[in-house]
Amino acid sequence: MTLSFTHETRAGRVLFGAGLAVENVVAEVQRLGAARVMVVTSGSQAALARSLADVIPVALTWTDVVQHVPLETAARARRAATEAGIDVVVAVGGGSTTGLAKAIALTTGIPIVAVPTTYAGSEATDVWGLTEDGRKTTGSDPRVLPVAIVYDAQLTRDLPVGLSVASGLNAIAHCVDSLWAPRADPINAALATEGIRALAAGLRAVVATADDADGRDRALLGTYLAATAFASAGSGLHHKICHVLGGTYGLPHAETHAVVLPYVAAFTLPAAPAAERRLADALGASTGLGGLESLRRDLHAPTALRDHGFSESDIPEAARLIVSAVPPSHPRPVTEAVLRVLLRAAWAGTPADDFAHSADLEAAVNL
Ligand code: NAD
Repeated sequence: MTLSFTHETRAGRVLFGAGLAVENVVAEVQRLGAARVMVVTSGSQAALARSLADVIPVALTWTDVVQHVPLETAARARRAATEAGIDVVVAVGGGSTTGLAKAIALTTGIPIVAVPTTYAGSEATDVWGLTEDGRKTTGSDPRVLPVAIVYDAQLTRDLPVGLSVASGLNAIAHCVDSLWAPRADPINAALATEGIRALAAGLRAVVATADDADGRDRALLGTYLAATAFASAGSGLHHKICHVLGGTYGLPHAETHAVVLPYVAAFTLPAAPAAERRLADALGASTGLGGLESLRRDLHAPTALRDHGFSESDIPEAARLIVSAVPPSHPRPVTEAVLRVLLRAAWAGTPADDFAHSADLEAAVNL
């Protein structure tokens, strides 16, 4: 076997430890020499944000956080950060909170210390996203990559089990899509494979006991591995589909990823033997799809897009919007007809294996 590839590793510090969030944020703020900190947070994370105000120089606390970062929300936060002379943003929360911090960093260059409380993984990527008039735009820029990530599994103990599962499957989707994404290589594949192992074990433990400390730790570690693999490998078919579903139809991020993943896997794995071997091996199953479906059953994962706000009548338009974004390097040709069948199965919650062997898919592939 000969190997030839170019791999880029993104910079960043990771401070990992349950119960150490405050201590580690203080250390990072001091290391950066910050004098005027903006804390971005929302909902249940406000308590940690309040306790930070006692130990770091907080000049501004910002709680106006909206999923998929509407442009006007970003503009208000950027203005406030500039007017307050902020030198570091500390983002405490899920992907939406990190996303707003990234929007601030994108135009101001203010460094971010991220304290994630879900398994979205945005903290370990240089990808930003903004939404305007129902269209989500994303891009990558080194300025938005947090300079430090503080992982504290205690902050995820109150994440409801259903949301933990959906968010964790979003992280597993980062891993699986990385296996065939445009810049997939043996380094990010290794990260992705280990990420799947850690997330599968962690999520099974969390579903058994919501505050299982070891399970929460493993899920968070898997989150980082997954996001690092994804940031390096780029967006594959799965992310292109979910991007349109979230940005254009307002579907919830984590649940959409959780539902769509088995359909993309069922369609792609037959044409991607190395990914098939890695996924099956990481999940301890005889086939990749079998392992994924068994994990999803154990986790009581979300099953149908129609339960999350997607209408059957939107399928043709969504397929049209997605097809032009599909990476040409995808292991199996993806047409609008294929996407219509895939989205219909995901909308209805058809078992992924039935979809993969359906007459409808065969007809679409042969069109
Ligand atoms: P989210 O940040 O919107 O959080 C979902 C809900 O969970 C919110 O109500 C939040 O307040 C609550 N929550 C968060 N942490 C909690 C905790 N520990 N306990 C209890 N409740 C908690 O959702 P998300 O799935 O984390 O992030 C989705 C967003 O992140 C999307 O906009 C998506 O595009 C973006 N994202 C970006 C990247 C990237 O690389 N740029 C990667 C993944 C996700």
